Amino acid sequence: MRKLDPNSRDYNFYAKKFNESWLHPDKTSEVRHIYLASRIDLKNSVRAQRFAQALTKSDGSFVTRFHGSQRACYLGEGGDGDIDPCGQSACHICGILKNGFDRRLARMTGMFGPGIYSTECSSKADIYAKNSHIRTNRHVVLICRVVGDRPQMLVSAETNRRSPDRRYNCVEAVLDTDGGEVVYPETVVYDEDQILPVGMVVYKRTGWSP
Ligand SMILES: [Zn+2]
Repeated sequence: MRKLDPNSRDYNFYAKKFNESWLHPDKTSEVRHIYLASRIDLKNSVRAQRFAQALTKSDGSFVTRFHGSQRACYLGEGGDGDIDPCGQSACHICGILKNGFDRRLARMTGMFGPGIYSTECSSKADIYAKNSHIRTNRHVVLICRVVGDRPQMLVSAETNRRSPDRRYNCVEAVLDTDGGEVVYPETVVYDEDQILPVGMVVYKRTGWSP
């Protein structure tokens, strides 16, 4: 995963996605850096190959989502070289980058049970982007590819859920504007192979607790 040139097409694509999906009115953000896995990184990754396999069971397209999690190091704040995830157990961002998502570490309290949660709304991912015992005003959310072309739309919480129903490959929350319970969207998968972290956005946040 490498830092993108701010003038590159990829940088502009993801910065736009991040900025346009920042919907919470009570806080703001400024993108500082964007990192992205190269084609070669992905080609050499066993997890990317498993994701490609999962993709063949769908229509072949993926959706892009953000995932916020705890960070306990300064990953993403260094120089221009490759990033080097730390090995601290409290650093969930590095754990995900090193080992992929692990459903066993999923939020048991999640609205749709112990799945892997992501969102197309950057300011919602930001809620989970916590810095643990580090002094910095930067935060990080991961950019993920998700196999999610057949979402099962759920109107209310189902905390005992362990998978989508047959015919679907992920779960999404119906928004309150459509009669659901959540204000901002989220996507849940229950199979680690269906979600692949491919990058991260490093940003500065204002209007919200550190
Ligand atoms: Zn770390």
